[in-house]
Amino acid sequence: VPLILTQFLDRAVKLYGDKKAIINDERIFTYSELNDRVNQLSDGLRQLGVKKGDKVAYLAPNTVEMLEGFYGVFQLGAIMVPLNIRLKPEDYLFILNHSESKILFVDQDLYDLIIPIKDKLETVEKIIVHYHDGLCEEEDYDQFLSAYSKEPFEREDVEENDVCSLLYTSGTTGNPKGVMLTHRNNYLHALSSMHHLRVTDEDVLAHVLPMFHVNGWGSPFYYTANGATQVCLRKASAESIYDAIENHGVTVMHMAPTVLNSLIQYYDEHQPTVKQDIRLVIAGSAPPPAFITKIEEDLGWEFIQVYGMTESTPLTLVSRIRSHHKDLPLEEQYRLKAKQGVQMIGTDVKVVNAVGDEVAWDGREVGEIVVRGNGVMKGYWKNEDASMEALRDGWLHTGDMANVDEYGNIEIVDRKKDVIISGGENISSIEVEGVLYDHPSVLEAAVIAVPHEKWGETPHAYVVLRPGEEVTEEDLIQFSRSKLAHFKAITGVTFLEELPKTASGKILKVHLRNEHWKKAG
Ligand code: ATP
Ligand code: MG
Repeated sequence: VPLILTQFLDRAVKLYGDKKAIINDERIFTYSELNDRVNQLSDGLRQLGVKKGDKVAYLAPNTVEMLEGFYGVFQLGAIMVPLNIRLKPEDYLFILNHSESKILFVDQDLYDLIIPIKDKLETVEKIIVHYHDGLCEEEDYDQFLSAYSKEPFEREDVEENDVCSLLYTSGTTGNPKGVMLTHRNNYLHALSSMHHLRVTDEDVLAHVLPMFHVNGWGSPFYYTANGATQVCLRKASAESIYDAIENHGVTVMHMAPTVLNSLIQYYDEHQPTVKQDIRLVIAGSAPPPAFITKIEEDLGWEFIQVYGMTESTPLTLVSRIRSHHKDLPLEEQYRLKAKQGVQMIGTDVKVVNAVGDEVAWDGREVGEIVVRGNGVMKGYWKNEDASMEALRDGWLHTGDMANVDEYGNIEIVDRKKDVIISGGENISSIEVEGVLYDHPSVLEAAVIAVPHEKWGETPHAYVVLRPGEEVTEEDLIQFSRSKLAHFKAITGVTFLEELPKTASGKILKVHLRNEHWKKAG
């Protein structure tokens, strides 16, 4: 059989039809009920003229409406375009027009973001509103759905290499790019992920990561395929997560380290007495070993770090401790887990130096991570140049720089665009930032390369101080010199009220660089 994502729902309906599938606030749906809604949605979309290959956009938090959208759109062979809910109206205008989206589903809470751009949408023919407040002039989703048939839908012929989604990247390093992922990419990524994360029908997943972003996007597939229960959280606050843990018996969660951090604080403050059977917590973005120790030892939850990017569906590396490392002291194990880890099944990952050779497994030599395998995208939508730049000689060039230790664990050092080259030496901006974060007055820090007469480039810090703290530029320069090799120490500081960030909370160093260049003339 071709590897088509609707098979995952079919399996859940066949084997777990009456099981509690989705919990969304007060509403609970079985897999059969979910399937009914999916059929109604597909029928409705077909009546609206949606055809194979058409784009259907979603602007919604984690809700059943979002989740059923996946399968409702796929039954038609149409392409889902999820939108990040933290963008600005101009960003939506760009993505909706660029993707040529035909239908837009939007949550009532977010509808205000669409009003200013409505007249400028070039391809959107209809807007349908989830959680309609009765006042909005667009069509109400519940009424729309109820007008259509729950009967098994006559599906379009879909092939496994057909594109199923256009996911726009976070735009950390430039304009967001539309990543074309196929059914096959997502299907095989799901098989690999469910293996590494050991997903079963006993799992109760809390959808904490937003499904509109690639990190949260993939998980509904593998939890559905296994007939797990899925709790949709509109907000990723510590309270709402704790509430789901307490009331629905959550066993597994994928989340951003910042959210995990606030959950840990919540546990520290509230000392809950309810027994928690969380078996696993999964996060990306390089959490420090101390953080991992806290989760595993204080909370008793297993922690796994994963690495990936939109262009690779995303997961490609996993930092689970392998059996032959179980004898290492715990401290050493946490240090290993803080690295991004080893390749997942179905992907081939290498770290290569400037001439294309694999770096030595010595934990020192640094190269670029390149990936080949089942999850790697078809290319960027309507961006041939960027596609050719990213996909070269059969490998996806990630732009992430890393080393490999003696066990083969990959550890990210920096993004290629952020590395500072001073007097011929490469300096990791992340390493320098790490030192600044150790200073008690520093709340946030970002380090970029600025031009230097003698050394070519030199590290310069943008710093946000904690409220009420006073520190001079000279203090911070001296502090960094006391902790780092002198060529790595910062040579200047700009103090800011806040740092520019993407919608997913990543610091926009490209803005800081532009700012600096503008000032320098
Ligand atoms: P853009 O490509 O538009 O500039 P982006 O690269 O931030 O944005 P994403 O695809 O959302 O968009 O993020 C992927 C990137 O996130 C990776 O290339 C890597 O730099 C970073 N990343 C992902 N997982 C980890 C991890 N476990 N540790 C450190 N960094 C990570
Ligand atoms: Mg990227």
